[in-house]
Amino acid sequence: MHPNRVVITDCDHGSIEEEKEEFSQIGVELTLVQVLGEKDLTRFCKDADGLLNQYAPLTRKVLEILPKCKVISRYGVGVDSVDLKAATDLGIIVANVPDYCIDEVASHTVAIILTLARKTAFFDRKVKSNQWDFRQGTPVHRIQGKTLGLIGCGKIGLEVARRISAFGVKVITFDPYLEKAPEGIELKDFDTVLKECDFISIHCPLNDSTRHLIGEKEFRKMEKKPLFINTSRGPIVDEKALIQALGEGLLSGVGLDVLEKEPPDSQSPLLKMENVVLSPHVGFYSVESISELKRRTAKNVADVLMGRWPGSVVNREVRGKTRAPTSG
Ligand code: NAD
Repeated sequence: MHPNRVVITDCDHGSIEEEKEEFSQIGVELTLVQVLGEKDLTRFCKDADGLLNQYAPLTRKVLEILPKCKVISRYGVGVDSVDLKAATDLGIIVANVPDYCIDEVASHTVAIILTLARKTAFFDRKVKSNQWDFRQGTPVHRIQGKTLGLIGCGKIGLEVARRISAFGVKVITFDPYLEKAPEGIELKDFDTVLKECDFISIHCPLNDSTRHLIGEKEFRKMEKKPLFINTSRGPIVDEKALIQALGEGLLSGVGLDVLEKEPPDSQSPLLKMENVVLSPHVGFYSVESISELKRRTAKNVADVLMGRWPGSVVNREVRGKTRAPTSG
């Protein structure tokens, strides 16, 4: 019997050791092809029983000529690279890994809050330019006793709350989809969070209803001149309004891991403001998170090839008409 053929269409992680290990148990022939174009994809993937995919666009045209393909597993959360409707029509399971970096993003968020509150990045710049004077950074306020408002309290928001609680910070949240408040967190309406918080951090997904959720009107409601943090997605915040709010002194500090345009224009005022801390959309990253991502992306495919339903399926409606017999 021929072994199953699995193709990695593309990935920018360097090695594929974790994937190889995951498939070694079940005798799969694994190939990394590193192609992005339709023609190459159809050429190299046509005999594949399963695909691992990062950015290569798996369009209907490509999927239609992969007669054996039973499963596509995407490295990460989003599956924009796959034509989901086509995959479902063809009985191909599309799986993802939605939660490989919760620890990293939550810790990164708290790191930004602490950096802004204690002004560590600011003082670091001063000392390195031979300015040894704490007065340049005054005022600095005590962290204990402050209130953090989370806009969205899912997997990452909850972990931010757990971590920041150790600093004696009270946590409240606006999350319209939560039926009851998670333990230790108070559920409030949107305006109350904007009005009452010393720190405000964004943890909702980007979609049509959250694009520019925070704009001029919302910044004006922030009565406590809060520290404002976004590690979710750039377009949730109207960046022009954010820059204006900073200019008017409506915010004490801003920390962003994500921007509306990544990377930002070299002329962006955000690059020059002393009370703004930036990072290059790195919240997801650690050696361990990437290793976990690779292992679990491969496991989704291995599961299907062994007749099991994988951990996280995006096109659930494919159930009952899959090309692969799956249980569980
Ligand atoms: P999640 O789905 O577990 O939680 C999102 C929460 O937002 C849910 O509880 C949901 O009810 C809530 N929500 C939805 N719409 C809302 C709205 N209009 N207002 C307030 N809350 C709303 O997702 P998660 O795993 O916690 O991830 C949160 C976000 O973090 C992701 O959507 C992603 O954009 C971002 N993220 C960033 C990085 C990074 O590298 N910086 C990495 C991973 C995820």
